[in-house]
Amino acid sequence: MRILILGPQGSGKGTQAKRLAASHGIAHVSTGDILRAAVAEGTELGRRVAPILERGDLVPDELMIDLIRERLEHEDGFVLDGFPRTLAQAEALDSMLASIGKPLDVVLLLQVSDEVSSERLLGRALEEGRSDDTPEVIANRLRLYHELTQPVIARYREAGALIEIDGERSIDEVEAEIERALAGTRER
Ligand code: AMP
Repeated sequence: MRILILGPQGSGKGTQAKRLAASHGIAHVSTGDILRAAVAEGTELGRRVAPILERGDLVPDELMIDLIRERLEHEDGFVLDGFPRTLAQAEALDSMLASIGKPLDVVLLLQVSDEVSSERLLGRALEEGRSDDTPEVIANRLRLYHELTQPVIARYREAGALIEIDGERSIDEVEAEIERALAGTRER
């Protein structure tokens, strides 16, 4: 199964992606996790992207596309989290998956309001001390989400591929709704 999960920061998509990966025995491919690991390891990629992550800006498309191509080529089943964030990334993803004969089975969108998204992120900042969870950086990331990632959502919605899930409920309720939605797509 190949799943794409979309949603703003704080929508719980990382948490749900981890659960989906575990329950379906597929890989959790999170670009945020991959980049943070590169920063922590001090690799060349990490040194390059560290200041970008620190500001909450987006890493250049070409770099992200190369990174994800390498990663997805080796996976049959995956839940993709954090990519695509721009239309250029979405187009590259669709054509790369088509060319390796592994199209997405389902695209999920976790919907939460800006207020809930910001509140959850500020809470996480206090708990985890992530350096990209300061109020200014959170606002920047939300702005970029509306500007650059909303068009990606519109693209999948227009293609009729999007399943929208209310992300403002508890983690378990959201998970149950996702599993029901996935069961529904298998029956179609
Ligand atoms: P995340 O954990 O998904 O919120 O990602 C953390 C940070 O990594 C983001 O704020 C961006 O700086 C960077 N990042 C992750 N995924 C992407 C992507 N697809 N395109 C550009 N930058 C990304």
